[in-house]
Amino acid sequence: MSSTHSKSSSSSSVAIQSTILQGNICKINFCQFCGGPNKHEIPDGEEKVRAICTRCGKITYENPKMVVGCLIEHDKKILMCRRKIHPSYGLWTLPAGYMEIGESAAEGAIRETWEEANAEVEVQSLFAQLDIPLIGQTYMIFLAKLKNPHFSPGPESSECQLFELDDIPYDSLAFSSMLVTLNLYIEDIKVGRPKFHYGVINKRPGTSPSEIHAYTLDFHMQS
Ligand SMILES: [Zn+2]
Repeated sequence: MSSTHSKSSSSSSVAIQSTILQGNICKINFCQFCGGPNKHEIPDGEEKVRAICTRCGKITYENPKMVVGCLIEHDKKILMCRRKIHPSYGLWTLPAGYMEIGESAAEGAIRETWEEANAEVEVQSLFAQLDIPLIGQTYMIFLAKLKNPHFSPGPESSECQLFELDDIPYDSLAFSSMLVTLNLYIEDIKVGRPKFHYGVINKRPGTSPSEIHAYTLDFHMQS
């Protein structure tokens, strides 16, 4: 798996990023403040095309979303959930989801684990922050322990299972972010204890989200 890692960054992926981000912005046709029609222009003093209301003049900014989740260690195994929702229906993931306004990242990770695996966890430390600029997401994955040995599939999961590290279902993982997280974790465990990792997942231009191996891990830092 380490062959998919690279420290290089390509300018072509940056170009693709800005095209796609502009594409996303162009989908915001109506103002979120007054409901008026938006135009799409570069405002004075800015560099990107924004959705600007033609009625009230306010700009609808789009910013990355935070995805929070848990890597739950139990008896040298880790807890994974099989998705019962799209995208990546039927594929395996660590419990994770979008952070809500009003909660901390750690609270969000605990909540998502409860919702997806009916598991009560205590977070131990932050394991990885992984940015995915192409789709405007940042993942924060916490190391966590089960407060009790009970878990079962929540409404968004068809199965929840503890996997030995050798048995992780690598052939049916849901997302590149999970592949990166699990690779980093297993590499850490081989040589000792989990560290903290920061990295940027750059998907290869022209590949679909389901091609989870089509990425480079750039700017990888660990401590
Ligand atoms: Zn408006």
